[in-house]
Amino acid sequence: MGLEEKVPSGFLLSTVEALAGFARKGSLWPASFGLACCAIEMMSTAGGRYDLARFGMEAFRASPRQADVMIVAGRVSQKMAPALRQVYDQMVEPKWVLAMGVCASSGGMFNNYAIVQGVDHVVPVDIYLPGCPPRPEMLINAILALHEKIARMPLGANREEAVRAAEEAALSARPLIELTVPRR
Ligand code: SF4
Repeated sequence: MGLEEKVPSGFLLSTVEALAGFARKGSLWPASFGLACCAIEMMSTAGGRYDLARFGMEAFRASPRQADVMIVAGRVSQKMAPALRQVYDQMVEPKWVLAMGVCASSGGMFNNYAIVQGVDHVVPVDIYLPGCPPRPEMLINAILALHEKIARMPLGANREEAVRAAEEAALSARPLIELTVPRR
């Protein structure tokens, strides 16, 4: 909630959206949050060789209250899921989530009761990044894709309309179980 929420829709709001998107995409602060082996690749992305600072993301924040992007780097255990959700809830709005690697995206090869089969069961995910582990170049590519999404983020009346359309689409989507091929 801010000044942009008060701006009427139309040309003025579109201009504010473009400016806010440009500023936001270049000043993301990720939460320090590594869960398993993918976190090593995430850490090396922030190191001197790949230099995440080029994209305005040099400061990984130790407090979720100072972070606006969560990179879920690694498998999420059932035990860790409530803590992950709590960190997400404490992050500032607007916030984004990047599921890094197959484990975070879908449970990966850990198809068992101990691992959450996709972090989207716990928090809404903006970008899924495949790989085991994804290399730093792949993480940077996913971050650039997230930048594009943030640059197009609607605000105010436009945002309300986008949220309503997304909710409608989610409610009218066919359940996954109906999409599976029946066994013979
Ligand atoms: S995707 Fe591969 S590297 Fe990443 S957490 Fe899972 S097993 Fe580890």
